[in-house]
Amino acid sequence: MQGAFAEHVRALGAAGARTRLVRMREDLDGLDGIVLPGGESTTMTMLMERVGLLEPLREAIRGGLATLATCAGTIVLAHEVTDGMPEQKSLGLLDVDVRRNGYGRQLESFEAPLHIEGMNGKEFPGVFIRSPLVERTGDVKVLATYEGHPVAVQHERILGLCFHPELTGDLRLHREFVRLASERP
Ligand code: GLN
Repeated sequence: MQGAFAEHVRALGAAGARTRLVRMREDLDGLDGIVLPGGESTTMTMLMERVGLLEPLREAIRGGLATLATCAGTIVLAHEVTDGMPEQKSLGLLDVDVRRNGYGRQLESFEAPLHIEGMNGKEFPGVFIRSPLVERTGDVKVLATYEGHPVAVQHERILGLCFHPELTGDLRLHREFVRLASERP
């Protein structure tokens, strides 16, 4: 609908996946996985609601569609959102509470090397841009933290990230998502 989708298309292509842009509910048909990109969660949710995509998306992800959410995408999936628009909706599919732009003014954008659980080799370059701060986690596995706050979480086939792997050229998280998506039962 909006945001940094072109970079994900490129990264997924490089990771060996075929991609399609999802703009209406019919576009969900037959997918193995979906990326909810970075951008503005308020705009995304509003547009998805307007075109009747929000509920079908919720159903598809609840039904096991592999999901890679980055930044605003993680806000869209969250349980509760603080500092959103009044009545900002979220899908409540990832058991985290997030504060929009929670890293504050000085830290609106920054890079930090991240140690991601299960990922061997060098640290992952975490690119944070007006990222949400995860303030509570429930039924999720925390895969990485930055200064004590979770920045990568997983629940079954959903990966929720506070940073932007699509901007780095490091394909390891996209490859992991493609692997999750190709294992669809
Ligand atoms: N601040 C944005 C939001 O609240 C997220 C920023 C991003 O996706 N890089 O939706």
